[in-house]
Formats: sequence, C-alpha cells, structure tokens
Amino acid sequence: MKAIEFDKSGIDNIKIVDTDLKGNGIKVKVIKAGLNPLDYNLIAGNVVYNVKPMPHIPGSEVMGIAMEDGKNIRKGDRVIVYNRIFDNACDMCYSGNEHLCYNGGIWGVITNGGYSEYIKIDEQNLFRVPEPIDDNTAVSIGIGALTSYRSLKRSKPKINDKILIYGAGNTGIFTVQLAHKMGLDVYVYSRNKELEELGIKVIDSIPEDFLADIIINPLGGKLFGDSIKHLRRKGKIVTYGVLTGRMADLDIAQLYTNELEITGSTGGTRKDLSELLSILEKSNFRLPMYKEYSLWDIKDALYAFKERVNGRIVLNL
Ligand SMILES: [Zn+2]
Repeated sequence: MKAIEFDKSGIDNIKIVDTDLKGNGIKVKVIKAGLNPLDYNLIAGNVVYNVKPMPHIPGSEVMGIAMEDGKNIRKGDRVIVYNRIFDNACDMCYSGNEHLCYNGGIWGVITNGGYSEYIKIDEQNLFRVPEPIDDNTAVSIGIGALTSYRSLKRSKPKINDKILIYGAGNTGIFTVQLAHKMGLDVYVYSRNKELEELGIKVIDSIPEDFLADIIINPLGGKLFGDSIKHLRRKGKIVTYGVLTGRMADLDIAQLYTNELEITGSTGGTRKDLSELLSILEKSNFRLPMYKEYSLWDIKDALYAFKERVNGRIVLNL
C-alpha cells in the first residue's frame, strides 16, 4: 500500500513509499485524514515526543471504512479512530482515564499513524460515525473536537456562565460552538468575524475590565499569565496547549485572593468521545474549511498549514 513516511524530521524529508500494512486489529480503508498542530510539529521536528518507529508514518486523526467485522464494528461502517493507545491495566485505565495511561501514548506518535491507504487498529480504538455527521466533520473529531469537548467539561460549566475562548483555530472552532450549545455566554478572542453569524461574540482585543467565569486558553506563554486577570472571583482557566510558549508568568496573589482555579486538559476519554458523537449527531455544526488536499500532496498542505489564518485542512485519499 502507499503511505507517507519520514526517517528524519523536516517537511522536505517526507516521502511517498510502498509498504506493507502492519499491526493487529481491524483493517480500515482510510478516506480522510486531518492535519493538526500535532501532525505538523511531529513532522517538522518541533516537539520533544519520542517518535517511534522510525521510519515513521505520521497522522493521528483519521476517518475511513471498516474492511472487516469486529465484535461491534461491522464491515462497511464509517469509523473514526480514538487516537490514544492504552493498556487497560494501570490505575488511570481502571478509573476511566485511558487517555492518561502510564504505558500509553498517542497513536501516530508512539506507533505508526494513518497517513496511508489502510490502517490496522484495535477495535477498542474505533468508533462508528452516526449518519448525520459529514466526512469532514467526522475526521475533525478525533483531535480537534475531542480536545475541545473535554476542556469544556473540565471547566464544569453552568448555564449562562460567561466564557472567554482564546482562538478559533483547529480546536477553538469546536470549543466556541460546543460552549454555545451548552448554554454559555460565549466570547471568542479571534479575528474570525464569521462566527458572529452563529450568535457568538467575537472580540479582537480584550477590554481591561472584561471578566469571565471561565477562560479556555490553549495559547500558553505570555497570553496565559495575562488572561488570569480576566477571571471573575472563583473563576477557572483551562489549558490544553502551548502555542506561544511553555512558560508563563502568573500573579500568584491574584490566584489565591480570588480563589481561582487552573486546570489542565488533554485529548479525551472514550466516554467523552461517545458523548461528543451524540452531541454532534443532533446538532447542526458548522466546520469552517480552509482547503482540502490529496494526501499525496501533503508537502503543499504542510506549507499551507503554517500560512492559513483559519479553517481546517483535510487530506483526502
Ligand atoms: Zn493504562
């Protein structure tokens, strides 16, 4: 089968290869793959992940068609991949936190991923996609939507809570719409004015006196420390990324005198993914697209990924 492979990091080291389909589990014909910061950084060598095996097939967000029956999955089902590898044998797995498995990691990082014509993957990592969800939305669930859904759950929102979301990119675009559906009073710090059509308040600068009950800020760096001052007393800030840097200056006095909470969130559990599929099945969800590419034109897609302002990049087979 054809696959995308690299043996050392760097976009220009990407090759199209002919390789054998390896691994155990259900065979899936890949239809679409997402391009996320995770994939970009993995290929460009911007992260400290222990990538294996080498040479490596990247791709951590995939939708496709099951080629054979499993216990629950049937041949012909439209499926997406839950992209955490886990052992079902540690305290994190036993407590329903398989995304934090001590012996696990991200599919496509600690294993070969899905930028290939076919994959083989354990049935516990496959989810059937309900009919109303279109292919481009489906392929954006495994990373973008799941990360955003869990980050909202981690903030324990109450109806009418005022929420400020930093950015409307790959994950933010889901966070704003899911928060809106959850009945929150949504503000997004972004230049993407199209979101106003959905009833979401878009602000391109945050007024000094702006206060929110919840802040979702995956941008990291200096913006993280600054955003704390926009929390109301008892407010919560959730992070799942460090786009502008891993280190932040925090006013610790502001933190305790206002009883603020800082919460981390990463990926999601299989339970989160099931809940999310039911929400998306019933809701009219808008997925802004930037562009679709053939998987075999992935170099063009990777260069475009850096330049794009907003919208998803999806790779087709
Ligand atoms: Zn485990």
